[in-house]
Amino acid sequence: MDARSWAERRLKEKGLRVTQPRVAVLACLASSARHPTAEEVGTAVHRLLPTAARASIYNVLHSLKDAGLVSELVFDDALARYDANVDRHHHFVCAGCGTVEDVPWDALPPLPKRRLPDGQSVQSYAITLRGFCSRCVPGA
Ligand SMILES: [Zn+2]
Repeated sequence: MDARSWAERRLKEKGLRVTQPRVAVLACLASSARHPTAEEVGTAVHRLLPTAARASIYNVLHSLKDAGLVSELVFDDALARYDANVDRHHHFVCAGCGTVEDVPWDALPPLPKRRLPDGQSVQSYAITLRGFCSRCVPGA
């Protein structure tokens, strides 16, 4: 299934009206593994839909986030990044190039304890791993 058809299906599943900007933003996120910033999404969508204003693209991002279709992530550079993969997974941030990659949930062993020493009950978690990606690893 191509990214646009996937995006249309996801919008319908959530009961959102299928509009060109929504499909373009969601399809752009679905076809990128790079966790783009709002500005990067704006640039990519603007190329496809030159009439779409930046502000409306940002509004679409926020409505998709509110609908649970994308998640917003903030890492070390403090920029909001967007991810159309809302299934549970971890992230890897490269200290060299700043790339943010998905790490499959099963790649790490599960947390051994669901109740913390101070009594908090853990309902969910995601881990941010930091290091060097395969292109930046020193000595490679
Ligand atoms: Zn991700």
